[in-house]
Amino acid sequence: MSAPVLVVNSGSSSIKYQLVDGETLQASTSGLIERVGQSESILTHRHGDERTERTAHIADHAAGLEAVVAAFEEHGTPLADAGLIAVAHRVVHGGERFVQPVVVDDEVEAAIDRLSSLAPLHNPANLEGIRVARKLFPRLPQVAVFDTAFHATVPERAHLYAVPASWREDHGVRRYGFHGTSHAYVSRKAAEMLGRHPKEVNVIVAHLGNGASVTAVERGRSIDTSMGLTPLEGLVMGTRSGDIDPAIVFHMHRSTGASFADLDDALNKESGMLALAGQIDMRVVEAAAEGGDRAAQIALEIYCYRIRKYIGAYIAALGGADAIAFTAGIGENSAEVRAGALGSLTALGVRLDEAANAAGGPVISTPGSPITVMVVPTNEEGEIAAQTTALLRN
Ligand code: AMP
Repeated sequence: MSAPVLVVNSGSSSIKYQLVDGETLQASTSGLIERVGQSESILTHRHGDERTERTAHIADHAAGLEAVVAAFEEHGTPLADAGLIAVAHRVVHGGERFVQPVVVDDEVEAAIDRLSSLAPLHNPANLEGIRVARKLFPRLPQVAVFDTAFHATVPERAHLYAVPASWREDHGVRRYGFHGTSHAYVSRKAAEMLGRHPKEVNVIVAHLGNGASVTAVERGRSIDTSMGLTPLEGLVMGTRSGDIDPAIVFHMHRSTGASFADLDDALNKESGMLALAGQIDMRVVEAAAEGGDRAAQIALEIYCYRIRKYIGAYIAALGGADAIAFTAGIGENSAEVRAGALGSLTALGVRLDEAANAAGGPVISTPGSPITVMVVPTNEEGEIAAQTTALLRN
């Protein structure tokens, strides 16, 4: 493996990791610790074809990363002997400052901490992983790669909200966008599949996982994206509402006395497909809809309709698209969602090949379709490793 990078994605109660070759972007080893801080944490570790699962009490992120080091010692190459060039960390919010990956020092750590007000659910957990890894691997560069960075090119017409100037100037209120590493990777791959340079093509990427966003990529640069100040805006997601009239928040506050913290939780954790269909997992929603469940049927319709509206808007924003790429858990696996999302876009140049779509692609439009539609598996960890390798080379 050349230039291996340990990619770490620390959530509030989970740690995902991959050992990625910075050249080929292939992962030789990967794993996940779930329920960090609870009495029964689960560590799943994969090395090649070998998969091990262990239950233990992992009290915090420090204990979690120590368990990761131990797992590498038991299965695969110990990290100390792996020739690591860096530990790379996914950081959700980079604000206006971090538009590129950066080597972490105390000052960068403090800046990521200050950005926690914009991403209270994510940045503190990301930072915890960085702090622990700096202690555990003191001689290795720790690199932060930001989910927002790819969207730094979104112009003012798309990133400014029409709100009071003091909100924008003193409180950082603007569209930042997220899933940047995925949108960057998938849009590049889509260009590759078209046999063109990324700078020659316009691509719309629909990243449809538990979190979901659509991005308009003009000649390799993000020019609009559906998530905003936070990951709440845009598409209907597993538990997030996506776009709503902001006055709903005030209405519910006045009508029920619910606090803003409660309403924040309701829109982030109790809305989306969970609220509409009673289920987060799209496979379960699809099965229920198939079985005649009316709530599941309408939830699917709403889910697809929102994607379709964004795709239509982004074809307009781009002045025409060369490709639409579907990615992430739902985008890569659900032929039904892809077909539903593209439903009436024929007039805009989308001709779906139903058999190719049912077979999962990679190209799912007809040969003559003005816009090529494709399924592109994302590789966020690979992209983080690639950006880390590029940063350290310069
Ligand atoms: P991600 O956040 O990218 O891991 O995606 C998670 C989502 O992908 C969940 O809502 C899963 O239900 C969904 N998913 C995974 N496999 C399938 C499938 N075969 N059909 C529909 N949805 C799927």
